[in-house]
Amino acid sequence: MSFLRMDELDLSGKRVMIREDFNVPLEAGRVTSDARLRAAIPTIKLALDGGAALILLSHLGRPVEGQHDEELSLAPVAAHLSGLLDQPVRLLRDWLDGVDVQTGEVVLCENVRFNPGEKSNDETLARAIASLCDIFVMDAFGTAHRAQASTEGVIRFAAEACAGPLLSRELYELESALTDPQRPMLAIVGGSKVSSKLTVLESLLTRVDELIVGGGIANTFIAASGHDVGQSLYEPGLIHDAQRLIRLAHEKGGEIPIPKDVVVAKSFSKDADAYVRSVDEVQPDELILDIGPLTSVDYAAIIQGAGTVIWNGPVGVFEFENFAAGTRAIADAIEISNAFSIAGGGDTLAAIDQFDVADGISYISTGGGAFLEYVEGKSLPAVAALEARFSR
Ligand code: ADP
Ligand code: MG
Repeated sequence: MSFLRMDELDLSGKRVMIREDFNVPLEAGRVTSDARLRAAIPTIKLALDGGAALILLSHLGRPVEGQHDEELSLAPVAAHLSGLLDQPVRLLRDWLDGVDVQTGEVVLCENVRFNPGEKSNDETLARAIASLCDIFVMDAFGTAHRAQASTEGVIRFAAEACAGPLLSRELYELESALTDPQRPMLAIVGGSKVSSKLTVLESLLTRVDELIVGGGIANTFIAASGHDVGQSLYEPGLIHDAQRLIRLAHEKGGEIPIPKDVVVAKSFSKDADAYVRSVDEVQPDELILDIGPLTSVDYAAIIQGAGTVIWNGPVGVFEFENFAAGTRAIADAIEISNAFSIAGGGDTLAAIDQFDVADGISYISTGGGAFLEYVEGKSLPAVAALEARFSR
């Protein structure tokens, strides 16, 4: 992977525009989790120390394009960021006609998704954004898999474009983990739906030595092995795909283990009573909401034997205490293992926080969708655009 990096450029006196991922949770006009803002601080400080006039860009949520939506304004982000940086961060509501920013100053442009043409990667919009800066820095790994005006488009038209330190580090870590991994290599893919992760499962099967499925995904595999899953979340339409993946694993001399035991309930709720059942004893009125304790022990042992672990997706409804034990066991096993471990995914990160295991994981990816697409072996459009500029 070859592209220009921010630390290779002289930023002094330049208008430097950084595409950030400031898509943070808000409640009543306040930032409730500022991990993404804190992650961006070193890049911002580096650019300021380098003598840049800074213009920051980000999206927030999913507004209707072409409409200003006060609920999805970046105003709370500007306020919070200003506190973290200990200097004013000016929010610009209308910024496409021109940005006035001095060396040492930081301005934050209002939500890029308020602009028509952002999502469709409109060339006129991309050129307009590009014209606002001397150097464009792509530092939002979490959006690198989307070809949009403020990600891929602007890279093609900016006077200079490079990768920021967060993006560079992320790509470096993922590449090192996946290209020459310590064996055996284990992937744990949980979460709600096979359909959203079918291509990931397929591509992982070709690279890893072992694959563990969990959550709603495991339910489809349980059904594919001929067990009744009652009222569980599963995808009957994907049973054939699950069977094909199981066969594929066998052909490679491995297997996709089916949980021995599961935790079930009669309703999807945090107060539902939990029962442990053998996987072949799930009742027609029950839902599988977690892996059982015997399965947790089995999976923890597989994790201890692995040289590399890639983790995406909780293995149960960890948001409900009664159904969190399986995901906690996986998280704890990864934390204490000596394997090189990589984790990614929105809910996976929430689980890592909840079980306080971040320090025991070698690398935590900030990108949900981008992480999965990278693992699938897909090219990320914004990264591809940086590479294309570099080779020109
Ligand atoms: P990530 O964001 O980490 O990629 P997903 O979005 O694919 O993960 O899936 C996370 C969700 O899957 C969680 O909200 C969790 O409650 C849900 N989930 C896990 N196991 C089950 C299950 N057995 N039944 C229903 N939902 C489940
Ligand atoms: Mg999710």
